[in-house]
Amino acid sequence: MSEILNKKELLMPLVSALQLASNSIVITNLEGTIQWANNAFTKLSGYTLEEIVGSSMRILKSGRQAPSYYEDLWSTISSGKVWRGELINQRKDGSHYYEEMSITPIVDENGEITHYIAIKQDITARKNAEEALNETLRRLEEQYQAVEKARSETRAIMDATSEALLLVSTDHKFMWVNSAFEHFFALKEEEIIGLGFTEMLPHFQRVFQHPIGLEDLFAKAYRNGGNDYRETVIQNWPLKRELEIYLTLVKNFLNESLGVLYVFRDVTHEREVERLKSEFVSLVSHELRTPLTSIVGYVDMMLDGDVGDLGETQIDCLQVVKRNSDRLKKLVNDLLDVSRIEAGAVKLNWETIDVNELIGEVVNDLRTQLESKKQVVASNLGSKKSIISGDVGRLTQVFTNIISNANKYTPIGGTVTITSRQEGNRIRVDVQDTGIGISEEDRKKLFTKFFRSQDSEAHNTSGTGLGLWISKSLVEMHGGNISFTSVQDKGSIFTIHLPLEQKPILKPRKVNLAHALITTRG
Ligand code: ADP
Repeated sequence: MSEILNKKELLMPLVSALQLASNSIVITNLEGTIQWANNAFTKLSGYTLEEIVGSSMRILKSGRQAPSYYEDLWSTISSGKVWRGELINQRKDGSHYYEEMSITPIVDENGEITHYIAIKQDITARKNAEEALNETLRRLEEQYQAVEKARSETRAIMDATSEALLLVSTDHKFMWVNSAFEHFFALKEEEIIGLGFTEMLPHFQRVFQHPIGLEDLFAKAYRNGGNDYRETVIQNWPLKRELEIYLTLVKNFLNESLGVLYVFRDVTHEREVERLKSEFVSLVSHELRTPLTSIVGYVDMMLDGDVGDLGETQIDCLQVVKRNSDRLKKLVNDLLDVSRIEAGAVKLNWETIDVNELIGEVVNDLRTQLESKKQVVASNLGSKKSIISGDVGRLTQVFTNIISNANKYTPIGGTVTITSRQEGNRIRVDVQDTGIGISEEDRKKLFTKFFRSQDSEAHNTSGTGLGLWISKSLVEMHGGNISFTSVQDKGSIFTIHLPLEQKPILKPRKVNLAHALITTRG
């Protein structure tokens, strides 16, 4: 080999090959001053040969490597060894590039180092790709840490809730439970994850008093289209509890269904308190009703003159007693109704009823009350008979409450308009008033028990705040519904829908036909 190199005729082709090589090649003297460089080097560094020859290699330093790195390089090559490594260098335009290189000392015939030759390869693209990959890995790691943190926080929150939670996948498999679930049903998460309802059936048959179709509930949740679904069940084992099951569809951020979340809430104590409260109210109301009936009876007798003549002052006093006892009687009756409805103890006495006739009777009964405020009652009760099945007493109570409210919450001289018409297989009754209306805030609470508006005009009127709750419950027991629209200071419309009787009409109840239009303006 050395013989070949020593041949003078080979020198020129060799130099020209080095000149055109794809690797950059630089030859420096012992001080690192550039003596020669090939085309690849000038192209990569951006310097011309004239600019670079005579310059120090330091001209290429980027400053991104520690001085000790260069010290190691120099001590290696000056001791006659080859140095191999990577350098980050700087081009003429200031941009940086990576090089992989070997620097070899050139020795003369006496073994003295005369020059160094560096053969370098541009590895910038590879290094950039490596850096991009490292950056991606670092970001992924960060995201993984964030997801893990969120997951463990969610788990901790779920485990801290007192409700038992169970997530069932779309293919009916148990996916996830919290620690309250394990505790409620004496199960361990690892025992049930991946199982389906069928495998869990023997366990749930032991747990619940009446084997409940948890899977049926699952189907119901889907049928409900994601609307919440609730049901109460009795648990027998390992503890006797009353549980409220609440189901909701769970979706991910792409709106894809993950399954159904079952929430089991222990309502044992809550229901017991409710039961005791309702029993107490019912007991007290019963006890109050008897003496009250007697007071009202005797006052009526006295006012009717059955126990002798009374002076004007005595009549005035007794009328105050009567007004207040009537109010008390209404409150007691309303309270009794509430507790009966809540206990499911209201039995409807089903009869065939013409709703229009019933409304006419109610308006007749309220005539004095309406006259006292000089209000016009306009009825447009449709010409056709509106026959439904219902309880006369209970529906009279409903329409009395709604029409009486229209009277109470409408100033003197206002108008109450009652219209009825058939809508499909239902009868629709609208009771419209020109009264004080209902504020937006009050509208949300209107059908809740004991709600009475704080509006001073409404507050000055006597009432229990139970009428609408009772009316709504009774209408729903008839398979109907009640709703309203209202504009404050303009008036309200209460709308009642009741299903028309479907079966052949038997003999309608005999009632007095009310006037189609009753005007009570005094
Ligand atoms: P009560 O009339 O005995 O207070 P209700 O349950 O019948 O009880 O009504 C509850 C509340 O709803 C009333 O106190 C009143 O504030 C409001 N309300 C009911 N009907 C009307 C109406 N037609 N116009 C305005 N407010 C009404």
